[in-house]
Amino acid sequence: MDPGLASALLAGARGGDLREVIPSTMGEPLLWAGIDGLIEACAAGRFRLNLTTNGTWPGRGARSWGLRISPVASDVKVSWNGASAATAEAIMAGLDFAAALDGVRQFAAARDEVAARTGTRCRLSFQVTAQAGNVDELGALVALAGTLGVDRVKVNQLQPRVAMLAARALPGSQAGRDRWNRAVNSMRSAAAEANRAGRALELQNVAPLPPLGAPPEPAGPCPFVGREAWVLHDGRFAPCPHPAAWRGELGDFGDVGSQPLSAIWSGEPLARLADGYRDHPVCRTCALRRPGGAE
Ligand code: SF4
Repeated sequence: MDPGLASALLAGARGGDLREVIPSTMGEPLLWAGIDGLIEACAAGRFRLNLTTNGTWPGRGARSWGLRISPVASDVKVSWNGASAATAEAIMAGLDFAAALDGVRQFAAARDEVAARTGTRCRLSFQVTAQAGNVDELGALVALAGTLGVDRVKVNQLQPRVAMLAARALPGSQAGRDRWNRAVNSMRSAAAEANRAGRALELQNVAPLPPLGAPPEPAGPCPFVGREAWVLHDGRFAPCPHPAAWRGELGDFGDVGSQPLSAIWSGEPLARLADGYRDHPVCRTCALRRPGGAE
């Protein structure tokens, strides 16, 4: 996205309903040319920054990023996919696991310094994609998180959007579901152990899967429509992160280059979708309405 577009968007949103800014779920936001301007715009507008990073802390290093981001952030999620170097480096090509561990420690220490100085403490999370290659060490991953100053481990199931990933997705087979369900017990035990040791550690999306072929859990409410405003790189508005929405299959909501975000937010097309999404064919089967499916 053009940094100027993002700055103008946030300047126009000051004093309104916007509470939190989540830069990008595609690519590494700390490599984006507009990230410093975005941090400044969040501070000026009193918006909280909610950031997901690959944990390489490019350019500045983890401590410097921690001092820069923590004062304005509500949550920093680090993509993390193993408890061992072998697993983590196999899943994230090019990762240096030892450097990643050091980076998390440095970020957490900087976060704690900022909290002691300002009273504002941003949450540090691990964002994990559960899959065949890491499911057997998810309990150890949670235990590791508890030693690193991480506050939350959020686990999503691998969504096999291309056929070659299907074998790695756990819900697709009974054996995969059994492995996941054993991992749930391990993760819960590790989190309880951390909590007993005085290190509060929250788990998110860590719940057993039913047997393969069992009727699916009823879909829950949409976690996005009417709650989050997604602005794509070219300024188009989308109601949610579902790829179909980005392809325009949920409607045309306009773009923020030609009208204020507030006009789109209160406009008729979005209100119609928010009222009627349960009947929309894309929304009826949307994985984002089930635990583990949220982006
Ligand atoms: S596709 Fe899914 S996330 Fe998007 S509006 Fe429909 S239910 Fe919500």
